[in-house]
Parts: sequence; structure tokens; C-alpha cells
Amino acid sequence: MINLLDLDAAGIQALVADLGEKPFRAKQLSHWIHQRLTGDVAAMTDLSRTFREKLASVAEIRGPAVVRDTTASDGTRKWLLDVGAGNAVEMVYIPEDDRGTLCVSSQAGCALDCAFCSTGKQGFNRNLTTGEIVGQLWHANRALLQDGDASPRGRPKGELRPLGGLGGRSNFPWVEQGRAPITNVVLMGMGEPLANYDNVVAALRLMLDDNAYGLSRRRVTLSTSGLVPALDRLREDCPVALAVSLHAGNDLLRDRLVPINRKYPLAELLAASVRYLTRAPRDFVTFEYVMLDGVNDSVEQAKELAVLVRDVPCKFNLIPWNPFPGAEFTTSPRSRILAFQKTLMEAEFVTTIRKTRGDDIDAACGQLAGRVQDRTKRQIRIQRAATKTAANAAPH
Ligand code: SAH
Ligand code: SF4
Repeated sequence: MINLLDLDAAGIQALVADLGEKPFRAKQLSHWIHQRLTGDVAAMTDLSRTFREKLASVAEIRGPAVVRDTTASDGTRKWLLDVGAGNAVEMVYIPEDDRGTLCVSSQAGCALDCAFCSTGKQGFNRNLTTGEIVGQLWHANRALLQDGDASPRGRPKGELRPLGGLGGRSNFPWVEQGRAPITNVVLMGMGEPLANYDNVVAALRLMLDDNAYGLSRRRVTLSTSGLVPALDRLREDCPVALAVSLHAGNDLLRDRLVPINRKYPLAELLAASVRYLTRAPRDFVTFEYVMLDGVNDSVEQAKELAVLVRDVPCKFNLIPWNPFPGAEFTTSPRSRILAFQKTLMEAEFVTTIRKTRGDDIDAACGQLAGRVQDRTKRQIRIQRAATKTAANAAPH
């Protein structure tokens, strides 16, 4: 069975043509799936009965299988999704006053093995399909329409108004204006999106498509650790807002923290970032910089960083490192983060510190663990190394 969530606009058009229907049916079908968020072909009542029957015999709408659904005290909501064969990925909804952001996963695990990342430590199993990526947005919108928003800013129950479509309730002002609960998407969940290029680009196209989610390019952000050739392709194929995970101001340190830097060193990554801006919806790149105590957080390192990126139109987002079991780092103290920020600001870079959201449910950046049946043998290597270290440390 075809999963309709796997098809971008061209795919839906091809299916409609195969079934002998007129081209305009493709738009109707897309509206049913991605705007009215229906999960059932039979419910598409303005399509003829014969079309619905033909469609139902070859295709279905297969949303994600939710294994856990948790809401934090600040309204952040995390879903654990089963993606088969013992793997699970996570997605996180982050409510703010003027927007609803969904942090989406792109792979079960990640092969790039950044030193400070929980997903990386779990190894890699496989790329998510287009349907599994876009299905996260589809499901979050449905769930939020049905359940409303549990964030403290949510309006009192008495004020909730029933919605059309799913017949749920909402306390999002923008939903009452006809928009979906999720207004912004960040590809910052599990996985490296540019390592799953084709499926990610098809999913991005659906996010931007006016007949699907209709988000503006500025409201969709892809975060990458720096796969340079794929970044160049994205610039041509589907430019959206860009975040680059920098984490270090020189190659020696970045080689250690972000191993892909050995293949695409800083000079190449920064040049690709500047090239990207010629087509990007925003006129700056956001550099993410995770703050690791005593590793990359000194004032001297901030100065080095400022020199490194002086020719790149950019902003910095400092991310206090979020711990996970077994990690070798500690989070920088607040005072060091503030001093680092001050140094970058004095060098005239807009620099924000990312607020930690949903930490009571482990939903913060880099804590998304899911479940990965590692195919890269990384877990085995890590365990062997740990056993060796323990053996060496044991008294003789
Ligand atoms: N693979 C992509 C996107 C997913 S990670 C990338 O690396 O950019 C999203 C962001 O979270 C990245 O900037 C990443 O470096 C950061 N991150 C990873 N582990 C973290 C942790 N434990 N604490 C804080 N941020 C982390
Ligand atoms: Fe992969 Fe990003 Fe984690 Fe690095 S930080 S291991 S690229 S998910």
C-alpha cells in the first residue's frame, strides 16, 4: 500500500493520473491529507465514490505510531514514535506566545557521532522516509487540534472555541484565523537532515506547498553539522532558513567535537554558508554553539570565533549543553556563557542564549534519545573502549 504521506505534490499528481482522474483532484487530495488532516480516504466526501474506492485499494494514510506522549510543565510536548524494527524517534512541540514550533527528526540515530550528542552516541540505523518526516507535522497538528495547547499561556478553558475540521478545541489565536497549530518547523531532532537528502527535501517541499502546509521558507529551519556538497544542493533545490552547528572556532577543536569537520573543514563550511545566503530566505546564517565547560567556552575562544566568522552574515545561538547519561562533558556555568555572549556581542554579532525547554521530560536539544538498533557497531566500540579503560584503570 502506498502511504499518501510519502508523496510530494508531483507524487500525488502522478497517482491521480494513474487512477485516471482529472489533474485538479490532486489539489483536493492534498488538502484532505495535509490541511484537513484526515486519516481516512473514505472521509474525503467531495471526491467521487469510485475515486475513493480506487484510491483506498492502492493507498492509505499511515501516520506515525505513537508509543509515548508526554507534556512538560512548560507545555513542551514530546512524542516517541515507533519506526519499526526496534527503532523509535522523537519529536518535540515547543509552544511560545506567537508561534508553535515543531522540532522534527530526520533519521533513526545519526552516523556522524558528534562527541556531545546523545543521538550520535546511539549509532545509526536508517533514514526516515518522507512520510515519516512529514507525518510528524501531520500528527502534531492533529494532536494539538484535538487536545489544545497545555502551555501556561494557554487561555482558560471557558474561552476555548470548537474548531472545524477535526472538531477539536484550540487556544491558539492563529488557528482561529485559519492556520494550523504548528507555525514553525525546525529540523533539529534526531539525525543529520542533509545525510537523508532526498526524503528531507521532499518533506520540505510539502511543508512549503500552499496545497499542503503552506509554511513560509523563513519559518522552516534546517540545522546541519556541515555536509558541504549537500548544502550546496539544498541552496539550489529548496532553500529554507539555515542553522549551522559550529561549536568550535578552529579545526583542531572542531575535528574532535564534530568529526565530519575532518572531511569538510571550517573554511569550506563557512564558504558554503556564504554561498547559501545568495538563495536563502533570510540574510543571515544562525550558528549554533553548544557550551561545554572548559572545552569551548573561554573568552579567548569567543574572540577567535569572532575573527573566524567576521565575513559571514550571521547570528549566534549559544546552547547550554544538555547532559545525558554516560557523557564526558559538563555544562558551562551561566557566568561563562554570559561572558562568551558578551564577547561576541562586543564584536557586533547578535547572540542569543537558547532557553532550555521541556527539560523535565528530557525534551531539550541533544537529549532526544529514542531507540536505535545501531548498525554501525558504534555501541559495541564504545562498550569495548569502556571495558579497556576500566581494565587499565584497575589496580594490578
Ligand atoms: N544533526 C543536525 C541537527 C540535529 S542536532 C545538527 O547537528 O545540526 C540539533 C542541535 O542540537 C545541533 O546544533 C546539535 O549540535 C545540538 N546538540 C546536540 N547534542 C546536544 C546536547 N547534548 N546539548 C545541547 N545541544 C546539543
Ligand atoms: Fe548527528 Fe547532529 Fe548529533 Fe552530530 S549533533 S551526532 S550531526 S544529530
